[in-house]
Amino acid sequence: MKHIARKRFGQHFLKDRQVLSDLVAAISPQTTDHVIEIGPGTGALTQLLLKHLPRLTAIEIDRDLVEHLKKACPPDRLLIHQGDVLRFDFRRVITDGQYRLVGNLPYNISTPLLFRLIPFADRIRDQHFMLQKEVVERMIAAPGSKAYGRLSILLQWRYQMDLLFTVPPAMFSPPPRVESAVVRMISRTAPQPCHPDKLEKTVTAAFSQRRKMLRNTLAPLFDEATLVQVGIDPLQRPENLSVEQYIVLSEHLPLS
Ligand code: SAM
Repeated sequence: MKHIARKRFGQHFLKDRQVLSDLVAAISPQTTDHVIEIGPGTGALTQLLLKHLPRLTAIEIDRDLVEHLKKACPPDRLLIHQGDVLRFDFRRVITDGQYRLVGNLPYNISTPLLFRLIPFADRIRDQHFMLQKEVVERMIAAPGSKAYGRLSILLQWRYQMDLLFTVPPAMFSPPPRVESAVVRMISRTAPQPCHPDKLEKTVTAAFSQRRKMLRNTLAPLFDEATLVQVGIDPLQRPENLSVEQYIVLSEHLPLS
């Protein structure tokens, strides 16, 4: 189809057949799977997934692309919702059963979208997303590394994640300025008990000034005695605590 890529929607269409087939192989769709694709675009990935699935649900913001997809795929096979995925009520499509989410995501909305999906993690088996490589590196980063931070902790609490492969800009049309990577996120079936709001508050405060010691950045939330009580050295910097330690500490916050 003829379509001029819209920058504001982060449109970079995957054009390389090998990358598309690697992505489908990584997803490994099975006929009984409930799959939701975010940002199907011109349908390159959608059409390949539909070779394995009787039906697929998709959410796409661009009205022209939605019209195109409606013509290209029968309505009983592609259930398409036109709209902004950041405002989309996922309860409309995540009902009974376990879901699988996929997408070559628009990079400008990927982080807020990942956070928005966390409350649905118990209904989502896994997520396979193409993202900016640097974002995936932050998602999977281990304590002590430069990339470790808020994104790593808030997502690692809920998902087990792996970078599957990287994809150079030339594989897209138009090419993005940065390298991309495919991440697999498997929802943890027994995540460490935690109040996500408390964890977010704690981690945001800790990383508000990366180079400062925890006794300073966390002072508005916890006194030093609480840090010591849960086995945290107040002189450490935020990147030195594990996800588990952040969760244990955050549980000492009162419920707001
Ligand atoms: N899946 C296609 C592919 O791989 O070629 C397109 C990927 S393109 C990087 C991102 C897609 O997400 C575009 O089709 C774009 O219109 C759509 N999109 C951008 N922002 C969106 C939003 N807020 N909600 C839903 N879809 C969005």
